[in-house]
Amino acid sequence: MLSILRTIWMIFLHSFRKRDTVLYPEEKPYLPPRYRGRIVLTRDPDGAERCVACNLCSVACPVDCISVIKGEDESGRWYPDTFQINFSRCIYCGYCEEACPTYAIQLTPDFEMGEFDRQKMVYEKSDLTISGVGKRPGYNFYRVAGMAVGGKDKGEAENEAEPVDVKTLLP
Ligand code: SF4
Ligand code: SF4
Repeated sequence: MLSILRTIWMIFLHSFRKRDTVLYPEEKPYLPPRYRGRIVLTRDPDGAERCVACNLCSVACPVDCISVIKGEDESGRWYPDTFQINFSRCIYCGYCEEACPTYAIQLTPDFEMGEFDRQKMVYEKSDLTISGVGKRPGYNFYRVAGMAVGGKDKGEAENEAEPVDVKTLLP
């Protein structure tokens, strides 16, 4: 009897406490800026896609959920003809972002990706590509690396700046 009264008293006291649960999705949880969620493919400041289809992200991915097939434009530049990420396997480790030499692939603080149909978790390039620069404003891979085109070496094309000497960037 005493334990029942004690239980009722505890329940009564708890009814005045602040709730730990929130009314999601009306109330959104706080996500730190470096939260690793939905992956996007970004563009450089000139609007061109950053990805050069090097496949490093795919190799770094521990669950093998990135698939890239390269294409090549008339200047010899590589680009992803196909870029797929299977988010039903992704563990949001961020290794792909670490491996990417062009800052193309980036993780964002967005986790609302639930689907009933697992096939819909496979995102195509058109689903992944955004129009912005993401976390790396001002970075253009080819301005750093230069681009060799038919008959001209890096930095020799019309209106092209000399490639950056990366050794000058060292502290
Ligand atoms: S976050 Fe990790 S698991 Fe997800 S695609 Fe990138 S490397 Fe693969
Ligand atoms: S996203 Fe980055 S690492 Fe992956 S293929 Fe494109 S350039 Fe390479």
